[in-house]
Amino acid sequence: MARRRSGGITIKSRRDLNMMIEAGQIVAHAKANMAAAAAPGIETRELDAIAENTIRKLGAVPSFKGYNPGMSMRYAFPATICASLNDEIVHGIPSRRKLKEGDILSVDCGAFYGGVHGDSAFSIGIGKISEDRQRLMDATKESLDRGIAKVRAGARIGDISNAIQRYAEGLGYYLVKQYVGHGIGYDMHEEPQVPNYGKAGNGPLIRKGMGLAIEPMLNIGTAETKVLEDGWTVSTADGSLSAHFEDTVIVTDRGPVITTRLA
Ligand code: MG
Ligand code: MG
Repeated sequence: MARRRSGGITIKSRRDLNMMIEAGQIVAHAKANMAAAAAPGIETRELDAIAENTIRKLGAVPSFKGYNPGMSMRYAFPATICASLNDEIVHGIPSRRKLKEGDILSVDCGAFYGGVHGDSAFSIGIGKISEDRQRLMDATKESLDRGIAKVRAGARIGDISNAIQRYAEGLGYYLVKQYVGHGIGYDMHEEPQVPNYGKAGNGPLIRKGMGLAIEPMLNIGTAETKVLEDGWTVSTADGSLSAHFEDTVIVTDRGPVITTRLA
């Protein structure tokens, strides 16, 4: 789930840092189980059930279900995952909608465990996928990796933002600016905001013990977004395709530790 645009909290103890890793690994298992099931004919609510079952079986609670950021949202988010298809960027609500050959599916998922959160997203091609769609997804994943590579104590949030922006825009893609990454830990959305654009050397200081959810959203045709009638789903304003990757990272002496990829 991405924070809407509107100092940062650091994790207080080694125990809580370990819990961040545990929470992230639970999300990683949920992602793997959904990726294995994502195929033509599967309904997005079936993927939601897979994620919820995985998270609860591992002793955690879905972070998104019942989440209500206030602001203008009419109702709390009703599911464990966000399932966004093709021109949908983030926050799609799982439903009876079936995946089709050639779709780009973007899944976002969070788990709360031991008092802390993990938050992660991935895009995946359904069945046989066109080259331009695969390129968009690969570029989004690579831009996330380039952002993560800038995470170290003493660096600035803008270093992450700039690495993502330079790479994505260098390939001709548009970055979503309306929704951003975020600090994460005891709450799913904490300070600082982690935009996917910005100047190197600018922005909040990255400190040891911080949790950061970095989440580039790349579009083919425009940076502009619109919210659909359900009040949650965000799509590209022009109907062009979008992809989303996100990982939760903690800042340690030995560099970034990615909690939400299978160890
Ligand atoms: Mg997320
Ligand atoms: Mg997030």
